[in-house]
Amino acid sequence: MAKLFATDRAQEVIDTAVQLHGGDGVRSGSAVETLYREIRALRIYEGASDVQRVVIARQTLAQHHRG
Ligand SMILES: Cc1cc2nc3c(=O)[nH]c(=O)nc-3n(C[C@H](O)[C@H](O)[C@H](O)COP(=O)(O)OP(=O)(O)OC[C@H]3O[C@@H](n4cnc5c(N)ncnc54)[C@H](O)[C@@H]3O)c2cc1C
Repeated sequence: MAKLFATDRAQEVIDTAVQLHGGDGVRSGSAVETLYREIRALRIYEGASDVQRVVIARQTLAQHHRG
C-alpha cells in the first residue's frame, strides 16, 4: 500500500514538474525528462501498480469477510 501510494504521488509531482518546464521537460536528456522516465518505471517494477491494486483488493475483501 505504501509503495502504491508513494509511487502514485511521485508520478503526480514529476508530471507537474514536466508541465512547469514546458518543452525542456520532454527534451531527451534534460534533468526533468530523465527523472520522469526513472519515476515512471517505479510503477512497473517491484510490483506493477495494477497488480498491487488487485492484491490489496483481495486482501481487503478477505479481511472484510473474516470480520
Ligand atoms: C527500470 C526497471 C528495472 C527492473 N529491474 C529488475 C530487476 O532488477 N530484477 C528483476 O527481476 N526484474 C526487473 N525489472 C522487471 C520488472 O520486475 C517487470 O518489468 C515487472 O514485473 C512487470 O513485468 P512486465 O514488464 O513483464 O509487464 P507485464 O507483467 O506484462 O505487465 C504489463 C502491464 O499489465 C499489467 N498487468 C499484468 N498482470 C496484471 C493483472 N493480473 N491484473 C491487472 N493488470 C496486470 C501490469 O500492471 C502492466 O501495466 C525491471 C523493470 C524495469 C522497468
